[in-house]
Amino acid sequence: MLGFDGVDPRWLTQWVHAGKLPTLQKLMEADSGKGYRLLGSTNPPQSPVAWTSFATGTAPGDHGIFDFIARGSNPAPSGGPIQLRVATTSFEVQPSGAAVARNLRSGVPFWQTLGNAGVRVVALNVPYSFPPDPMRDGRMLSGLGVPDLRETNSTFTYVGTDVTDEQQQHPPGGGAMTKLVIKAGVGHFELEGPSVPGSADRMKLPATVKLGTPAGGVTVTLAGTTLALLPQQWSDFVEVELVHESTRVKGILKVLVLELGKQTRLFITPIGFHPRDPYAPFSYPRAFSAQLADELGHFYKTVGWDHDTSALNAELIDEATFLADMDAVEKDRRQMLLTRLAKPDWDLLIWVSTATDRVAHMFYRLMDKQHPRYDAALAKKYGDAVLHEYQRMDATVAQVLTKLGAEDTLLILSDHGFHNYRRGLHVNQWLMQHGLLALQAGARSSSRELLVDVDWTKTKAYAVGTGQIYLNLAGRERDGIVSRADAPRLLQQIHDGLLALRDTERAAAQVVRQVYSGAQIFTGMRAADAPDLQLAFAENYRTSWQTILGGIPGALFADNDKKWSGDHAASDVSETSGILLSNRPIMRQAPSIVDLAPTAHVYFGQSVPTHYAGKSLFSAPLAAPTP
Ligand SMILES: [Zn+2]
Repeated sequence: MLGFDGVDPRWLTQWVHAGKLPTLQKLMEADSGKGYRLLGSTNPPQSPVAWTSFATGTAPGDHGIFDFIARGSNPAPSGGPIQLRVATTSFEVQPSGAAVARNLRSGVPFWQTLGNAGVRVVALNVPYSFPPDPMRDGRMLSGLGVPDLRETNSTFTYVGTDVTDEQQQHPPGGGAMTKLVIKAGVGHFELEGPSVPGSADRMKLPATVKLGTPAGGVTVTLAGTTLALLPQQWSDFVEVELVHESTRVKGILKVLVLELGKQTRLFITPIGFHPRDPYAPFSYPRAFSAQLADELGHFYKTVGWDHDTSALNAELIDEATFLADMDAVEKDRRQMLLTRLAKPDWDLLIWVSTATDRVAHMFYRLMDKQHPRYDAALAKKYGDAVLHEYQRMDATVAQVLTKLGAEDTLLILSDHGFHNYRRGLHVNQWLMQHGLLALQAGARSSSRELLVDVDWTKTKAYAVGTGQIYLNLAGRERDGIVSRADAPRLLQQIHDGLLALRDTERAAAQVVRQVYSGAQIFTGMRAADAPDLQLAFAENYRTSWQTILGGIPGALFADNDKKWSGDHAASDVSETSGILLSNRPIMRQAPSIVDLAPTAHVYFGQSVPTHYAGKSLFSAPLAAPTP
């Protein structure tokens, strides 16, 4: 099973028809077209939700992942921010110094069930599979969800003589900004690392910059490691060790010199877990992450969010730098795949690349002349960036096919498709204009996040997350005022109002395509954690950036002025399918991502768990019986 995150069926077919993806074309056209299907995603069609359904074979109401962000069980409206948490993984450093990771999904991934039943599994880089799942006969490397050493999704560091105090105090999302002062050609700075156990402080890594050695370059010293770099030169991965009293944590990072001249500017990747001595295990068995480095002959990016979208979005690195880093990461990912594939020691191999998703998020703007961030000069240079990643996918599949035997089955899938994101809706402002949300002292907007300025005694509904609305429900929210009896009428009012909403500044375009009832689409044992409404935006629209963390700007709409310009996380599942390709005829007409887990069970002659939501794509066991 090869996963390519976010591969969109419209682009795929367009480029296949243009003859640009020859290997995928062969698969699509084989068996009178039975090798290709749209693959139904989850509602909402986004990676944490869909990959967790892939893993567990269950719908979101059962596995409990509804978005990147989850509402805490008891928001604390009076005087403090409401509780929001990362929905997928918790990672905490305990006072003892132990780093404890927990996957917040409910359910068991199919590879673990099969690995314990005697199927020899290799799972590489599956999103939201952290911490790794122990198996009797399996090995896995966790993908998205593995944090960096700061215990975040990924935080790069920008070190520059041009950094302002304001930037240091309010860095862009996913980044840290460090002011560099150079005196007599030498400057010092500190990189922040893991939490000091039992404290709010962080461990620090001292670093020194010395200009002029090598000639025209710079020497960067990081905790004893010395790098001699020229402008625009990436270092190799560097091992670092952060120390606080008896706690020692190892990591790896790369340094890029962005500029030496008028300003001195460095870009430092998030500090990743060390494959040979991880902060917390991110492979099973623990030593597998080291074995992968040994086989590659060098370190590889270990942070789950492995492409630096935040740095490009903050416009601290440029397109060329982002793509060069992506290229290096994807070369390693492919090499890992081909190396495992060539070994005769597995029955089920799962591998995922996220580059197809990240490149579409960041470069959609250069394929759409109407996008606020369209730039003709950049489009000329990078307008094919998404196509190039699909061509990398095509080449990877071609290489995989040459290594497969006649009896082997290949399944290629994406977890969702893609849409344009030109305009954002400030959902909380809309709720306020419809008398459903009130700010303290009658204010018309709030620049603060986390709904801190909301008057909860007058608020009936609020929006947080990528496309979710919750009622301020009595007995659930701490200061809830909406009774269960009133809830259906309010939900209907929001449903009708948002569907009727038109963007009068943009030719009266429809903004919201569908409003799904949480009670209807999220049934199962985790339904109590689900939102009350799930929004599905029309093409070109999404929840505004500010809404995600509970912000309430004054206007109703905002142009999306970010380079993160394509999205799918709050799109309509009915028009955001992923893709499914196989070297065998797929018998199901309308398969869904929950069908992969039962397919694997049937394939290996194992009984399909009764709680699975999907059905096998094939009718009979295809693999030789496992011992
Ligand atoms: Zn995505």
